[in-house]
Parts: sequence; C-alpha cells; structure tokens
Amino acid sequence: MIEAPYPGLNDLLTMMGDAGLRMSEIGACEGAAGNISICLHWPMELNDLFPEESEIELTQPAPKLAGATLLVSGSGTRLREIKDDPAANIACIAVNDGGQNGRLYTSHHRRFERVTSEFNSHLAVHYNQMIASGTNFHAIIHAQPVYLTLLGHIPRYQNEQVLNTHLMRWQPETIINLPEGIGFIPFCLPGSAELMAANVENLRYHRIVVWAKHGVMARSDVSVKLVADWIEYAETAAKYEYLNLAIGEMAEGLSVEEIRSICKALNLKQRIF
Ligand SMILES: [Zn+2]
Repeated sequence: MIEAPYPGLNDLLTMMGDAGLRMSEIGACEGAAGNISICLHWPMELNDLFPEESEIELTQPAPKLAGATLLVSGSGTRLREIKDDPAANIACIAVNDGGQNGRLYTSHHRRFERVTSEFNSHLAVHYNQMIASGTNFHAIIHAQPVYLTLLGHIPRYQNEQVLNTHLMRWQPETIINLPEGIGFIPFCLPGSAELMAANVENLRYHRIVVWAKHGVMARSDVSVKLVADWIEYAETAAKYEYLNLAIGEMAEGLSVEEIRSICKALNLKQRIF
C-alpha cells in the first residue's frame, strides 16, 4: 500500500528502469528474457509520455481494477534498456469500467508490438493480491537468475521444503527478507493458463516463486525495487548453494538453531525451520 502523495509516472518508470538494470547486472535477464509490471490504483495522466491510444482486451476480466493503471514491459524488450528509454519499452493499460478490457497507451517510438507474453500471469497475480490485501500498488518481475534456475533443474531441489532448508542457510538476510520462504512451481509451458494459475496460488503465500527449469516470479506491494531485491537475495542464496556443491559440500551453513535464533531476535514468523 502506498500513501499519498503518490509517486508520479516518471518516478515509477525510473524505478522500473532501476529494477530492470539490476536484474541485468545479476545475470537474470539475458537477451529479451524477463518482464516487469506494476499496477496502481490512483489517477494517472498517461497521454504526455504515451500519446498513442487503442483498445486492448484483458487476458482475464478484472472488474475490481476498473480505473487502475498497469505499466508493463513490451514483448521482446530488454529489461536493461527500460532505464534509458522507458516510453520505448513500457506500455500503459488503463482498465475500463467492467474490467473486460482497457485503454492501451504507448509511445510513438515504442519498440514492441504487444505486451509481454507473460501478461496473463502479471494481471492475474496483481488482481488476486490487490483484492486480497486491498493494496493500491503492486509490482511484479519475472526474471531468469542463473543459479536459482539451475537448482530448479535438479530433482532433489524440486521440493519446497528441501529448496528452502538449503537456501535459507547461507546468510541471515535470506530468512529476514523472505520469511515466507521461496515457493516452487513444477515446469509449466511459458505463458500458459496453467503457469498463471500456479503463480496466483503460490504468490498468495510467498514473495518469490521458482518456476522449474525457467526462472522466478516475485512481487511486492511496496516497491518494484524491493521485488528486484527479493530476487537478488534468493539468487545469492542459490549461488552459495551451487558453490557449496562445487567444493564438495564442505560448508557448514547456518544451523537450524542459528536460523531460529535470528527469527526469534527479530520476531519473524516463519514455518520452514
Ligand atoms: Zn521467461
């Protein structure tokens, strides 16, 4: 939830650019991989930066988002390029009354034809979260961080409890920032209704979920830069896990008692340990 005075369009686009660049810096969005969106529910003037207007049918009805605005990366755009030219890489969708369709606002020099192919998951997760918590702001990133994605290919990590007990043991920051743990979704076809439904369900309980053999999706109702942070914390943990495997599992890692003591000291509720 964001309190007034609300951030303006330029501020939001700058933060999307910062988050996109960070994903690139940590190796989580090669080529045009990855996508980013935010949904906000306060009045927003779009025409100055995005003067081209057309109608767009939403991938699912979202009646309670009537009047809300989505800022979403275009299909084939590069997350690292949003910062230098947001209008070329981002589309805006103002949700119409009834929530069946919206008004699409884009720039004359946009570098895409359609919004991201994962838009169905973005919209469905925004919708679910905004209804569930009543927030007026929600941000999502899908990225493909190498170490997390690698672990999602290894059968023994394809289990939420195993994944979390192995990843939460490398730095206190991991459980502090992701106390609900990291979710896990078995392989689904990219852009599919199956992946969309799994994201909605999994992100009800987690800030970040691993998509087996593909990447991650993460969310925040505070800041798109926090979404990038969740991904970076989880990816750093996965890198430690990989390094430990590479040296023959020599590292001790934080013990269960040590992790429990961190959570107790900070009054963190967690159910993993
Ligand atoms: Zn992807």
